[in-house]
Amino acid sequence: RIAETRTKTRATEAPKARPQRDPEDYPWSADVRKALHNTFRLSDFRPNQQEAINATLGGYDVFCLMPTGGGKSLCYQLPAIVESGRTRGVTIVISPLISLIHDQVNHLLKLGIPALRITGEMPARDRERALAEIFARDAAATLPALVYLTPEFVNKSRVAADIFTHLARRNRLARFVVDEAHCVSQWGHDFRPDYKEMGQLKRDYPDVPLMAMTATATSRVRHDVISHLNINKARLKEYQQSFNRPNLHYHVREKKTKAIVLEDIARFINGQHRNECGIIYCLSRRACEDVASDLGRAHGIRAQHYHAGMSKRDRIRVQEGWQENEFKIIVATIAFGMGIDKGDVRFVIHHTMPTSLEGYYQETGRAGRDGRSSDCVLFFNYKDSNGIRLMIDEGEGTRHQKEQQHDNLRQVVMYAMNTLDCRRAQILQYFGEVFAAESCHHTCDNCCRMQQAPHDAAAMAHTDVSAMATQALGLVDAIVRAGDSVTMLHCVDVLRGSTKTAIKAKGHDELAQFARAKHLARGDVERLFQRLVVEGALGERSEQNGMGFTNAYMTYNRREAEAIIAGQKQILMPMKKLTASEAAASSTARTTTAAARKRSGYQPRPRPLELSEDDFEYAHD
Ligand code: ADP
Ligand code: MG
Ligand code: ZN
Repeated sequence: RIAETRTKTRATEAPKARPQRDPEDYPWSADVRKALHNTFRLSDFRPNQQEAINATLGGYDVFCLMPTGGGKSLCYQLPAIVESGRTRGVTIVISPLISLIHDQVNHLLKLGIPALRITGEMPARDRERALAEIFARDAAATLPALVYLTPEFVNKSRVAADIFTHLARRNRLARFVVDEAHCVSQWGHDFRPDYKEMGQLKRDYPDVPLMAMTATATSRVRHDVISHLNINKARLKEYQQSFNRPNLHYHVREKKTKAIVLEDIARFINGQHRNECGIIYCLSRRACEDVASDLGRAHGIRAQHYHAGMSKRDRIRVQEGWQENEFKIIVATIAFGMGIDKGDVRFVIHHTMPTSLEGYYQETGRAGRDGRSSDCVLFFNYKDSNGIRLMIDEGEGTRHQKEQQHDNLRQVVMYAMNTLDCRRAQILQYFGEVFAAESCHHTCDNCCRMQQAPHDAAAMAHTDVSAMATQALGLVDAIVRAGDSVTMLHCVDVLRGSTKTAIKAKGHDELAQFARAKHLARGDVERLFQRLVVEGALGERSEQNGMGFTNAYMTYNRREAEAIIAGQKQILMPMKKLTASEAAASSTARTTTAAARKRSGYQPRPRPLELSEDDFEYAHD
């Protein structure tokens, strides 16, 4: 097969083009094959692995972008062995997590590869033994092929610098590997300040080849990584491959109440993945504990929780128990998972939506690493985004970073609300990849719907709802200016022309001029308001009411709202296509809004003492 490819390449080449080098025709090629078969017991390379290996052995710096589970480790572990065999050179791997380092070193030792780790928290005795192997007088015999370090250790400990100079003086510093290199960039989803300092490696050792490995692909992150690590672009080879994971099936489902979502999860697991391995991601530590215990108690499904609030010992115990199949399901915060190497994860469920699409891709990417079909189910409830928004606002970070986080969240909500476009196409678009929905082969919920009910699907379209949005904004503006507090559901009712007592009680039936959405389904109008919050034009302010419930009241953000009202920003939403008369009704909405606002002589009435029914609708469950 290899011979065939070679001939083909030669035959199609233009006469003057530099011949593409045969990947099997390097001085080290025989060693590389041998290591692949004998040491790693693998039959062949995956895309780009061999190329990356040849590049680093050839002395180039390498930037390797491969999806989670794509096989990045082999790209540096294999050359480490080859190098160790030829020159006794040591490959230094910088990796972000102690647990991850632990797993990798154990895995290497099992394969008979001399590897060791030196981290700040390991027992002094173990650390000294490891150091002895490196600093031994007769080091050639004891030098490991790979040494794993955390960036914190490299920054804070003199020892790391000593290791590097010691090896460099003896010509034994084969290469640096920065794994999970996106941690260098604050645009990545997992920025770690200590990673930034890894730029020092290339400053101190400009001639030692460096490999940066990541599954995070936006071009901004890529540029950041290359520049912060001081990689010399002239000596750089980059490898990327499609981020599509064909064996992962993507679904978004409505998250109803706390009890119902648990039933849905249980039904899904018992129906499609009984006794199979899975991860359920929750946002809060408390939710992890509740979901894990409720699954067991109410549904007989054994699951364990995992989060950063647990002791280190408990975390390791749970992670290992899951890894060794003592139990199958882990309910975790995103503290769990980076670098997890378990092939048979059949499902990843998001009990709460993720905070970015990038995070979603990483988290779902832990399913199906063995290539078999696996399911990714996102339970979406718009209200969850309010919680996350609050977390962002109250969390750490500069204003700029918070804006970025809000933007990330907005993309997730848009993804969940987009019931029309192929999920893969949506996710991959985030990574700058154009994906044709035909290639999905109906393996996401949206493509499935298109196939199963083509008629219904065809009746839906991305509809310009800017005019209706303008109307909704005018309504909230009028109410807020009158000093009244209302919930989103209340506004939905007013926009739909409801004459419920709750609306009459507040005198909001007098806002009839805004009630332009009579022809629209309640769900659509609700989504419109939610979308306006996501766009930043409306907000929700939490307030405790007299009964101890927290209500969310609408706020109006002039600057963002004006952009929509003035037509600078268009709002498209997946909706049932409008009939001609419905379309006419909504298109007059924009022009009449300004007039309506002027005409509105609306004065707030004193708030009734009783709570209206919508006061309860936003109460936290
Ligand atoms: P990541 O890119 O996420 O770091 P890993 O290096 O952890 O991925 O590899 C994921 C899985 O793929 C591992 O179980 C590994 O053994 C397997 N793998 C890597 N390369 C190959 C290959 N060429 N053939 C078969 N399996 C491979
Ligand atoms: Mg990895
Ligand atoms: Zn699809």
